[in-house]
Amino acid sequence: MRIVEGRHGLSERYVHYIFNEPPAIDRHIFNEPNSTLRTQFLKHPLMHFKRLINYSIMRIQWATKAIHVSSYPYSLIVDSGNICTLSCPWCPTGRRDTSRPRGFLRFADLKKLIDEIGDAISWIQLSNWGEPFLNKDILSMVTYCKQKGIPKTGLASCLVPIINYERLCLSGLDKLEVAISGASQHTYEKRMGGDFDKAISNLKALVSKRKELGRKTPYITWNFLVFRDNEHELGKALKIAKDIGVDRIRFVGANVAADACMTMRPLAENIEMSTDLVGLGTRFSHFTKEGKPKYPKTSCDLLWRRCAVSWDGSVFPCYMYCSQKYNLGNCFEKSFKEIWNNETYREARKIVRKSLKQEFSIEEYDKILCAICTYYGRYRYRYWD
Ligand code: SF4
Ligand code: SF4
Repeated sequence: MRIVEGRHGLSERYVHYIFNEPPAIDRHIFNEPNSTLRTQFLKHPLMHFKRLINYSIMRIQWATKAIHVSSYPYSLIVDSGNICTLSCPWCPTGRRDTSRPRGFLRFADLKKLIDEIGDAISWIQLSNWGEPFLNKDILSMVTYCKQKGIPKTGLASCLVPIINYERLCLSGLDKLEVAISGASQHTYEKRMGGDFDKAISNLKALVSKRKELGRKTPYITWNFLVFRDNEHELGKALKIAKDIGVDRIRFVGANVAADACMTMRPLAENIEMSTDLVGLGTRFSHFTKEGKPKYPKTSCDLLWRRCAVSWDGSVFPCYMYCSQKYNLGNCFEKSFKEIWNNETYREARKIVRKSLKQEFSIEEYDKILCAICTYYGRYRYRYWD
């Protein structure tokens, strides 16, 4: 078993206990020596040539903070639906937030999007703010993405709905993250509102089916959000994870990262929330004891390398959106290319590009999430000093 403790991106503070090393597919696609895309590029140069070109242009345009971009994002989050049977209080779907339209992604819409940009992107996550296995077409969507040659596909699930595990293991899915934030009925129910034994027995059934089929994928991670009141169960969860045979258990500080609206909240409120959830200056906290953010002052790169699409085709600059108001256009109604370089997207890139010292009027950018983002975006710097 290998233990890795650190920070993922700018947001999460985590500890991973790795029982089985991830296949090359789970490493950073281009930066690791045995990365799948590189390996696959050698095997299928024509299939991945466009991805390699796209990635290279994207890196240049991200480094130069280009406003109008000729590359596509290299990774994509497409939400298969924002409906879930659980009721995690930090999640807009769990809170049954009615301010966003609710529904499921249709196969035909995903196909349109993948047919347009599938040969440029290198990984796709087909879930965001909902339970993907409630969408009856989810496995066909995964298979379609794999048939189009996308090297890495991922899903995040609470594993509560009934699933055909054999179909799941044979779908081509590379990576599955299973959210179980607790190691007893008491803590699980408090944080997720479900049946702990059912979640664990479903996880066991999945792992044993994968073993029976002799497959290594999907690479299964148990994702455990750490709160003050379940932190004492980390040892117990680790033991259960090992007994079941998952590949990895990942303890991530709940902080404010668990909340879709954190980007829109003043830093002081985020600190208050974090104090309540995990405490200040603790192992999993984003903030020091003095309330200073532990994440670095770097500007956001998501407007160049990634984007999030909701089930109805609304495009957002990143996965952290909780209001329909901030959508940048609909890529099921128009082409993705049109949205990716439309006026609002260009304005958002200008905002992120502006010097950190430069002030601007928030009102001027009422509809752009990056303008009020207190997290990665530059507006947060107002709250730092
Ligand atoms: S399991 Fe996921 S989608 Fe469902 S309520 Fe919890 S955080 Fe939201
Ligand atoms: S600046 Fe904030 S809202 Fe904009 S893409 Fe980055 S994290 Fe998302």
